[in-house]
Amino acid sequence: MASTIATASTRVLRQPRTALTCKRQLHTQDAGCRWHFGAAVVFDIDGVLVRGKQTIKEARRALDMLNGQNKLKRRIPFALLTNGGGVSEQDKASQISAMLGTRISANQVILAHSPMQALAAKYKDSHVLVVGGPGRQCADIAHAYGFRNVSTPNDIVAWRPEIWPFIRLSPEIRVEKRAFDQHPFAAVMVFHDSFDFGRDLQIVTDVLRSREGRLSAEYVGRQTVPLFLSNADLVFSNEYVRPRFGQGAFHECLRAMWCALTRGASLEYTRYGKPFAVQYRHAEQVLDALVEAQNSSVCEHRRIYAIGDNPAADIAGANAAGWTSILVRTGVFSGTNDPENPAQLVVDHVGDAVEKIIDIEHQRFTS
Ligand SMILES: [Mg+2]
Repeated sequence: MASTIATASTRVLRQPRTALTCKRQLHTQDAGCRWHFGAAVVFDIDGVLVRGKQTIKEARRALDMLNGQNKLKRRIPFALLTNGGGVSEQDKASQISAMLGTRISANQVILAHSPMQALAAKYKDSHVLVVGGPGRQCADIAHAYGFRNVSTPNDIVAWRPEIWPFIRLSPEIRVEKRAFDQHPFAAVMVFHDSFDFGRDLQIVTDVLRSREGRLSAEYVGRQTVPLFLSNADLVFSNEYVRPRFGQGAFHECLRAMWCALTRGASLEYTRYGKPFAVQYRHAEQVLDALVEAQNSSVCEHRRIYAIGDNPAADIAGANAAGWTSILVRTGVFSGTNDPENPAQLVVDHVGDAVEKIIDIEHQRFTS
């Protein structure tokens, strides 16, 4: 299918500069290839660069184009922005690099929980419950983010197995048992999909309505502990023929349980991940850091292009952030454009998307 509209919007970033200064900063000499800092590209991963365990064949060529194989003969900074998580940024960078046969660094990767690092400024010494993923994997990620006092639902089950009597912890599972009636929780953070909905619904609601964050016989009739959620996607795609429940499905269950347990009270929470603005502000900081790492400064007229396959997440978030949204047809979307969250450009695949970006930037550069 042919592409539809091509409109490049601008995003004003920090440090306003004069047009002359800005023009000088658009292109900087790198050891191998000059950089074009007038634009930056942010890719979704699933449905854009890969599909499950398979790569999308145009993905490598798209990255090669951004790495200088284009008619501008310049490199364009790019980052990956995914609602996936449960691994470190380094592990995701290594995984995608191996799949695509290219080199992507950890500081180009933004996972659903990456902006939650900022919460460490407030909670680094507080006791927090980290939910999601297998074993202590997400607890280890939280530690790396700066949270020094992290527990998991398995730690709580190890302390009082009767709190969720339907499972038996395997001796191989790493737990850090402590007296949770003596160590109050200051926050609950859901980092990834729940690997045990029942256990996590029970334990999270126990903590949220506990007196001063302590797990005891006494419940309070209101929410006493703040809740942070990292990915609102209701479903995700894998090798199965139909979409599977994602972290958003866990949120829906949690809200329904909370409403039932509190006679209609609303659950209070802070959300991260696409399409929420916090994710896009974090991505802009990541792009700023990539530019600054090349000894350059942020340009006030830089255009940010977002390439995604999910209108409700990728396109809605990019449009709200003032970025140029490009929708591809290699993932969950097929059609002309999305009526609810229309993209500024719709193309067949990521190779076409990057070609369009190069065309727009070349036209700007040479006009
Ligand atoms: Mg996707």
